[in-house]
Formats: sequence, C-alpha cells, structure tokens
Amino acid sequence: MRNFLRLHPRVRFPLPFGSYDVLTGRRLICPVYHVVSDEPLPHIEYLYRYRGIRLFEDDLDFMLRFFEPIDAQTLYHLIMNGENPHRNMLFLSFDDGFREVYEIAAPILHRKGVPATLFITTSLLDNRSMMYRHKASLLIGLLNEGNFSAACKEEIRKFLASAGVKGSEKTTDLRLVPYSKSAVLDAIAEILEFDFSLYLREHRPYLETGQVQELQAKGFTVGSHSVDHPEFSAIEPFERIRQMVESLTEIQNRFSPPLRLFSFPFTDHGVPKTFFETIFRSGDSLVDLTFGCAGLKRDSIRRNIQRIPMESCTLQARDILTAEYTASIIRAMVGKDCIRR
Ligand SMILES: [Zn+2]
Repeated sequence: MRNFLRLHPRVRFPLPFGSYDVLTGRRLICPVYHVVSDEPLPHIEYLYRYRGIRLFEDDLDFMLRFFEPIDAQTLYHLIMNGENPHRNMLFLSFDDGFREVYEIAAPILHRKGVPATLFITTSLLDNRSMMYRHKASLLIGLLNEGNFSAACKEEIRKFLASAGVKGSEKTTDLRLVPYSKSAVLDAIAEILEFDFSLYLREHRPYLETGQVQELQAKGFTVGSHSVDHPEFSAIEPFERIRQMVESLTEIQNRFSPPLRLFSFPFTDHGVPKTFFETIFRSGDSLVDLTFGCAGLKRDSIRRNIQRIPMESCTLQARDILTAEYTASIIRAMVGKDCIRR
C-alpha cells in the first residue's frame, strides 16, 4: 500500500494540510535529503532526483509554516523521555556527505535558522574513495553520452552476466550491480578507460574534514552513515556491527559529537530485531539513535527513527508530506502504522 501511495503522491484526503497533524497525532516529521544543487552532478544523476536551490527553499518555507525545526539533542531527549511532541517539530538530515551540503544547503539552512544533522559515509570523507553507486551513475552517463559501439556495450553486458549480476541478461543497467559485486564497476571503468580517482581529485564530490568542522561550529550535528554504504539487510551480522562501530568511531575521533547517531545506508528494511537488541543493549548501547527512511511511520524499536525521503520525485514538500500523512491515516485504519520486527 505504501508503494502505491509513493507512486501516486497526489492521492490524498481533501483536508487542509494544517489538520493532518491533529488527525494523525504525528507532530514530528523527519525529512531526509542528500544534496541540493542547480548543476548536473554526474555521480548522482542516474540515482535520484536531487533538489535545485529554488525547490529546496520552497520546501523549507512550506515546512517552516507548520513545523518548528529542532536539533538532534532535542530529538534525543524527546525520544528517550518517551514524550509526544506538544507542538509540530521538524528534524532535518542529509545522508552520504556531499560537498554541496557545505556550499549550498548549509548557508540556506543557516539563514533560515534550521539546524540539520549530516550523516557521513566515512570512507568518502576527504574524497578518499567513491561510493559504488556513484561509480555506477558516472559509468551510465559515460555509456549514454560516449561514442561506445554496440559491440562494446554487449561486451559489458556479458561481463555483468559472467559476474553473476542479476538482471544483466537483458540490460547493461549498472544500477543492478550490488555492493557485494562492486569490484565489477572498477573493471568496467577500466574497459571504458574512466578514472574514478581523477574524478575525485577534479570534482571533490564529498565533504572535507575542515568543512564538517566549520559546519559543526555553526550548529550542525554529525553522525555516521556506515563505512562504505552496504545494503544492511544483505551483509552478515558481524559486518553490520563492524560497519556501524567503525564509522561511529571515526566520526567520534574526528569530530567528537555529543551524540552517537547512525543512519542506515539505503534502508533499514530487513534489518533483524537481534541487531537492534545488540546495538541498544541496556547500559551499554553502541549508538544513541538510529535512522531509517520508511516515511511517516512508527517503529517498534523506539530509538530507530523513520525519516521521509524527499528526493524520490520532484513534487514539492506540500505534496510529499500530504501523501505521507494520507498513507499514515490509511495504514492506521488497517493497523499497519508501525514497523514490527
Ligand atoms: Zn546513503
């Protein structure tokens, strides 16, 4: 049902937006973005529809009409005290750690008085490496725009198939390459004579340590988003813990944030209850709060907060949030408003 509403965000109850919070009791919203830019960003272009500056500002202006922005500390106290927000609240975050958050989004947020939390994929920090999905986007652009022969594309398709990439019998869509086979993308880059290191040096797509420290000084909060962005449901239990602990440790060592915050790469869907029991064990938790992106949903794990992805379409915040509230009302009617693990 949720997917249906995602695909049809104009499905809604004919109510003024201001009545949804009262009707649903959902007074906290947690929108999540990655990047804001008016420029083409080839390393993201084929992955999702990031906001331009105007649309991002429109989103903020709309949300600020109905919600009071809060920082991570306020959110943490709210969650840990088990309080229901007594007013409408907005907790904003950015995943992955892109340079444009520092250059474009942060000045806008600062001007409007909106605090935000940055969840950083630690191996990308300082442009030390490139995330495999960003490599896929770059290579797709190269294949689409370059003068590669049909024979070359067929060679790539066969290469994907021989590597066991599911779906490659019919297509050369490099987005099909999973984390576990990400070395395939490096091999294809070699075939196409594309140098990811050169792209990193020339374009600097990710945040630098100094930029993050500057943002911290301006009130932004820093959390981790894993070491190198695996699909958490697809990796072994010990590797889940390693990805979380290692990335949190690096964030702690570099930035000493007051809270240990972690957002799941891609999604927390399929992450078992045992994982949460381990990381939130009483008296010795590995992390303070974790974040998924299943939309306006409750979670049976109290300290796992669900956020609303804002870049799955180019609709305005009003439409996306209205669809989320509508879906929430319908889910509540059928008793499915809470993620159970
Ligand atoms: Zn991510």
